[in-house]
Amino acid sequence: MTRRTFLAAASSLALTACTAGRRGVATGTSTTGTAGTPGSPPPASPPGPAGLRPARFVARGSPNGVAFTFHGSGDPALLHALLGAAARAGAPITVFAVGSWLDQYPDVARAILAGGHELANHTYTHPALGTVGRAAVAGEITRCRDALTRHAGSPGAWFRPSGIDVPTPLMLDEAARAGYATVVGYDVDPRDYEDPPSAAVLERVTGGLHPGAIVSLHTGHTNTVDAFEAMVGAARHRNLTPRLVRDLVAP
Ligand SMILES: [Zn+2]
Repeated sequence: MTRRTFLAAASSLALTACTAGRRGVATGTSTTGTAGTPGSPPPASPPGPAGLRPARFVARGSPNGVAFTFHGSGDPALLHALLGAAARAGAPITVFAVGSWLDQYPDVARAILAGGHELANHTYTHPALGTVGRAAVAGEITRCRDALTRHAGSPGAWFRPSGIDVPTPLMLDEAARAGYATVVGYDVDPRDYEDPPSAAVLERVTGGLHPGAIVSLHTGHTNTVDAFEAMVGAARHRNLTPRLVRDLVAP
């Protein structure tokens, strides 16, 4: 497959999957989900196999910074370009990786962690998770969890569903059952998976930034990678420090 074909295929996959079930709102709007309580203490204890408490849903963090979060899939060359940009900008990122991508490109998990970044669970095949049944939801979460464990040595702390903004109760149940006490959404969505020009990605992100913002971005898109350093600069200009999700959200 040529690089162009690969990119087109990867991009079309991401577009199909990422737009499914999405709201058609531009950027900077609050999600309809339950926002996390900034600065709230962590839950008393993690969920256990018996008497399981559903995972909680968080779409914004505490106001001591902002989190640039990425759907992780697509051309690994773009991932490496993004990691280079993040290093130059001195900005940590949190990558919600598609599990099959980790299996297909075994180097990406190591490269992400080596840069001081964070990895989390974004299903194994990135289906429109709201359209599949309980067994499939459970399988998507646990297969990605196991891929993360294989390639990163840890399942990560967070789950983010694919193709839907706000998780259903079923997803919260199955996330908890798989060991994830917290499901992390986002409250700034520049729709970068539609491949707008990088100036538009930048403008949509900067227009939505606020203390505690969780920004949704995608690793497999050139214009996102091109805009990233300027995004970090815009955040810092507003005294918003880029942080990992784990530094903005209680476990
Ligand atoms: Zn995604």
